[in-house]
Amino acid sequence: MDDRKLHPETLLAHEGRERGRIGGTVNTPVYRASTLLFPSVESLQAQNGTLNTYGRHGNPTTRSLESALAELEGAYGAMLTPSGLSALTTALLATLKPGDHLLMTDSVYDPTRAFCDETLKRFGIETSYYDPLIGEGIAALIRPNTRVVFLESPGSLTFEVQDVPAIAAVAHAHGALVMLDNTWGTPVHFPSFKHGVDISIHAATKYIVGHSDVLMGVILTTEALFPQVRGFYKQLGLSVSADDAYLALRGLRTLSTRLERHQRNAEKIAQWLAEQPEVERILYPALPDAPGHAQWKRDFSGACGLFGVVFKALPEQAMRAMLDGMQLFGMGFSWGGFESLILLTNPSAHRSATTWKAEGPLVRLHIGLEHPDDLIADLEDGFRRLRAACR
Ligand SMILES: *Cc1c(COP(=O)(O)O)cnc(C)c1O
Repeated sequence: MDDRKLHPETLLAHEGRERGRIGGTVNTPVYRASTLLFPSVESLQAQNGTLNTYGRHGNPTTRSLESALAELEGAYGAMLTPSGLSALTTALLATLKPGDHLLMTDSVYDPTRAFCDETLKRFGIETSYYDPLIGEGIAALIRPNTRVVFLESPGSLTFEVQDVPAIAAVAHAHGALVMLDNTWGTPVHFPSFKHGVDISIHAATKYIVGHSDVLMGVILTTEALFPQVRGFYKQLGLSVSADDAYLALRGLRTLSTRLERHQRNAEKIAQWLAEQPEVERILYPALPDAPGHAQWKRDFSGACGLFGVVFKALPEQAMRAMLDGMQLFGMGFSWGGFESLILLTNPSAHRSATTWKAEGPLVRLHIGLEHPDDLIADLEDGFRRLRAACR
């Protein structure tokens, strides 16, 4: 059967598995190995120069995960990194050189911004930030030395859905590469390579691992870019443990099933939140009247459980009263696990090309796999505390 005709659910269940061995296991075992052995000089020399001579280059467990991820998103190859951030920084360093110019979305994950403003700057690479909603208007910002156009769609704090195909077309017409932080989209819901992306990056820490117990990143590339990015990755000496790769593979198998429930719960809770008098607007592209909905519907096959809630102007004290007493929503900086999270954020601190305009505070919610009615009850109690504090 041609793999390309299989649906994501089927690929998730079957890719990256060893087949055909009598008495073989369903899952690739954990290969804990630094040293790989060869029975003869000839067999060692035959492998030399390939990526199969030393534990740092990978093992059957990491390779199972890499091949499953590449197959799922339609990439040529995948590389695992110790965190999502290290995947982003590795991909940028692999493709940029002194004198190059980088166009970066203003909605980017803040640590990526810090890396551009400090490390890339120190290496003589200039970053300019652009309005995430610029679309084909990006053409006006491209310079002769623009090497990479970087996107994050939707932004993981402010949820602008970018016109990836339009931006990619312009970038390619000017000889620039297109890089995307696809963590929100996931390999299941946003087929980045079909939309013109050259390098797709995920914080696998989030939905791929899905259980809040492993930090990992993945870089996926086209065939044209793979040798360059893989070569640089190898020189940096990056590797992940087989144990972590095993956990990520275990998480991956249920990715689409979990996402379906995350989305269903998130839609229900977002709709409930939209009816609360203190809520100004909901930033969840899957909601019909949310910003970016039409573009999301055009380009994505689903959503995840992460969205923003813009409140009306109210005292910070009231917001604190609501957030401090949550019973089911944990307070923390991650997302993509099975559990719900809530976070008070301040996007204005991380903007330079655009201004974040909001009436009141922005709260980010990650909706987990709990029963949505229990989560709504927890939020209801929160609104009660908020109202009491406003009086
Ligand atoms: C969390 C996150 C990252 C970084 O991933 P880590 O594994 O925490 O380093 C990158 N991009 C986005 C959008 C994220 O949410």
